[in-house]
Amino acid sequence: MKRASYAIAAVAGFAVAAVGFSSGAGAADKAAGLSAEKLKEITGKIDDAALKTGAPGNWLTYNGSPSEQRFSTLDQITDKNVGEMKLVWSFPTGTNRGLEATPLVVDGVMYTTANWSVVHALDAKTGKELWSYDPKVPKEHGHDACCDVVNRGVALYKGKVFVGTIDARLLAIDAATGKLAWEVATADKGTVYTITGAPRIANGKVLIGNGGAEYGVRGYVSAYDTETGKLVWRVFTVPGDPSKPQESKALEDAAKTWKGADEWLKRGAGGTAWDSLTYDPELNQVYFGTGNGTAWVQEMRSPGGGDNLFLSSILAVDADSGEVKWHYQVVPGDNWDFDACAQITLATLKIDGKDRKVLMQAPKSGFFYVIDRETGKLLSAKQYADKVTWAKAIDMKTGKPIENAGQRYEKEMAIVQPSAFGAHNWHPMSFNPKTGLVYIPEQEGAGALKKDPDFKVKPGTWNIGIDLTQFKGLNRDTKGTGKLLAWDPVKQKAAWAVQHPNLWNGGTMTTAGNLVFQGTSDGRFVAYSADKGKKLWEAPVESGIIAGPMTYEIDGVQYVSVSSGWGGAFALVGGGASAASGTKPGGVVLTYALPSKVPAAMASADPAVSGDIAKGEVLYHHNCGLCHGANAISGSGVPDLRHSNPDLQKVFVQIVEKGIPGTGMAPLGKWVSEDEAKLIQKYVQKRTEDEKAGR
Ligand code: CA
Repeated sequence: MKRASYAIAAVAGFAVAAVGFSSGAGAADKAAGLSAEKLKEITGKIDDAALKTGAPGNWLTYNGSPSEQRFSTLDQITDKNVGEMKLVWSFPTGTNRGLEATPLVVDGVMYTTANWSVVHALDAKTGKELWSYDPKVPKEHGHDACCDVVNRGVALYKGKVFVGTIDARLLAIDAATGKLAWEVATADKGTVYTITGAPRIANGKVLIGNGGAEYGVRGYVSAYDTETGKLVWRVFTVPGDPSKPQESKALEDAAKTWKGADEWLKRGAGGTAWDSLTYDPELNQVYFGTGNGTAWVQEMRSPGGGDNLFLSSILAVDADSGEVKWHYQVVPGDNWDFDACAQITLATLKIDGKDRKVLMQAPKSGFFYVIDRETGKLLSAKQYADKVTWAKAIDMKTGKPIENAGQRYEKEMAIVQPSAFGAHNWHPMSFNPKTGLVYIPEQEGAGALKKDPDFKVKPGTWNIGIDLTQFKGLNRDTKGTGKLLAWDPVKQKAAWAVQHPNLWNGGTMTTAGNLVFQGTSDGRFVAYSADKGKKLWEAPVESGIIAGPMTYEIDGVQYVSVSSGWGGAFALVGGGASAASGTKPGGVVLTYALPSKVPAAMASADPAVSGDIAKGEVLYHHNCGLCHGANAISGSGVPDLRHSNPDLQKVFVQIVEKGIPGTGMAPLGKWVSEDEAKLIQKYVQKRTEDEKAGR
């Protein structure tokens, strides 16, 4: 693994060198191709119609399209040729914490985010940075984020880039210039709300939820005017003070499912909508999932029980008014941090011979839900995780889980599976209409839950009521594993699965080329056949991957991109899982394509090259590349070393050391040792072979 990591580091380094190099002469034209005027024109075209229909070559919203299927119709890269796929460029984000973002691409421009809600605009063909925007989140807000200072990406609309920040601001940035257009505080000062999710667009409004339910807040989703940043509507997910009128009829009803208001009013009842947000243009509805209550322990927040609506629920609201149309509660009276915040994917499925407009979710609880999105009726729910201890099944008459005894840890500690990390968390899943399968980054692991006998509310920090020393046991005793699970949502059963050594693997993306892509916590980026789950391609990456991949096309070339950077919630207690596999902290956006389709100067050498050649590659780019050309391809009058005649090859090492008087070749012996010169020569020879082989 070490050697492979080194190789990829070298390749990454040299792709960057290639990019830096090209900004000299020939690429000035390319850079000009993406001037601010051009960006304005490109991003200005993203309106409601464009978002609704999309374009196969673009990836305009976090999960790729309004259906949030993460399915691409691009099919240049297929199950037949993916084995040839190579790294084309890499963009180091300069960070070493979790990267959860899925980049968006529109007509050759990429917008993505890194730690601390920093936004980057890149040339999607080369990885060259066009601009970046740092919202300058005060670092003390890192404490307010339960699960790392991550960000899952941006929304694009009519020339603006929208991003939520760790300190709960929503920003609109000029997509052409990277200058701030407007910003709003989505939460009151002094509260512990955070934003890590990607905003979505619905009819000229930008939608955003928030996190904070571990600390104690009242969850909500807000819609702001995209032009002005004015609040259009806000829908709360849990009731406010029951002695006063609630904001809506839905909340009046919800309030009746809570007991002991003194308890939950102290700190806010929770129920934050921190990830999924799906706008359904067909029904003009927005769907989102909500999380746990504060505290996790139900008797501490609602003594005497109750369903505690709308905790751990899926809600459908009117996109124009925020009025609640229907809800489905995944886990009534949640006691386990079973957020139902996971991605909500729309599809039309043939169920019992009838086409049904459905939404699908695989939340933490371990059951896969298919719901009629017009009515909110539960159509089916089946266990997708290998092991679920908290409930036997979902009763289709009531739509409620049939709980197992002893799992609410009323008296003593209980081992509960799934753990609070869930059988599936935020890591995006994908649905391929051609195979009819959903590809879930599934995970197996148990958690030890015990009430904290000394629990007292401490505003501004974790208030979950759990004895957190139990987490020690979780990390030590139940390491957990993960799978890429292909799930048939109609039959509600597994089609195939690929076992991974750890949990907390990357999200998935699927294509019309019969492919599924997924990165892993043990530092690999992998392609499988979508129908059978056969591994077809794999590349080592430096850091574990947790983000979801995406794909796009520019000038007839299909690219596949993914952010690599280990972190997020599980890294806090289970970081060892990735490190034990030889990965390191890091942050980089990696972009791949078929070498036969990309210009020669951009195509990198084989990432799996041996150690010597990889070392030579780094030495070459540090000592030779600036004159002789990146990738050992000369773009100028300086000799192309791949074409050196055999006599010169014999004295290669001497030339490096002593130079050639009277030419531009300076003596490099001061900086390059004899052994290093030999490594450089090995690399150049490899590039000579590459050229003969058409690489
Ligand atoms: Ca939670």
